[in-house]
Formats: sequence, C-alpha cells, structure tokens
Amino acid sequence: MSLVGEKIDAWCLKCKLELAHVVLYERSGQAARVKCQTCGAEHMYRGLKPQKKPGVVAFNLSRLNRPKSTLQNAQTVREAETRWVLKNHELKPDRPIRAYDMKERYTRGDVINHPQFGLGFVERIVTDNRIDILFRNGLRTLGMNYVRFPQPPL
Ligand SMILES: [Zn+2]
Repeated sequence: MSLVGEKIDAWCLKCKLELAHVVLYERSGQAARVKCQTCGAEHMYRGLKPQKKPGVVAFNLSRLNRPKSTLQNAQTVREAETRWVLKNHELKPDRPIRAYDMKERYTRGDVINHPQFGLGFVERIVTDNRIDILFRNGLRTLGMNYVRFPQPPL
C-alpha cells in the first residue's frame, strides 16, 4: 500500500514544530518527501523533532541550578536595600556627604556619593586600601587611599 497522500507527523524546518504533513513521495515503503499542512513547505522527510545535542542538555541542567543562586542574590540585594533605606532615613540633613574618590581616605560611618552607584555608607574598613560601602543596590568593595604613580619629571 502506498504512503503517498497519507498524513504523517514530521518535523517542519520552517515552523520549527512537529506538524501534520502529507506524504508526496515514498521510497522503499518510507516517506521520502512531505508537505507541511501548516505552512505549505515541501521538504524531505526527516522524521520527528531532532534529538537534542549533549551540549543543549548540559545547558538546560545549568539553567536548573540558576534560580536558587538568583534567589539568594536577590535576597541579599533586598536586605542591603532595606539597610540602605534605613540609613538614608536616619541621615541628618547637615551630615556632610563626601564625593567618592579612590585617592581619598575614608572611615567607618562616612557618607559618600559615588558617580555611578549614588549615595553610599562606609560600613567596613577592609584594608588600608579597601572599604565596603553599602549602596542602594548592594554592598560593594571599593578602593581608597589609592597612591598615584609619581608624576613624571618635566
Ligand atoms: Zn511548516
């Protein structure tokens, strides 16, 4: 019995879906050429959806692990923002706000203004050259007391 004219599910390269196709030609009792009933494209019969390559599977697995860490990060950012809002609320109007400059030296409790991250509160002196600053979008470690290279002689 001929397959020609029979309906068959096949992978449509145009629709990128498994769709009903009509067999146009057959070869050795197998569908050889089919026509997509959705888009009308005629193409060789390639069976159903192509098997996923191992790389694709690995990518999906790594995606499965992502929401957990994303959630933790979001939570950390939220906690930082809550602390920031509280500190901002308690900030007295006459409190000096220093412009952030990595060549300057800061102490714990200093309020700074960073050109990119905005208002920040110095929370911790990490080393003589590093400080933790609480910004609205999270805690950041920035440089301070940065010593410039000596000016070249004129
Ligand atoms: Zn199609």
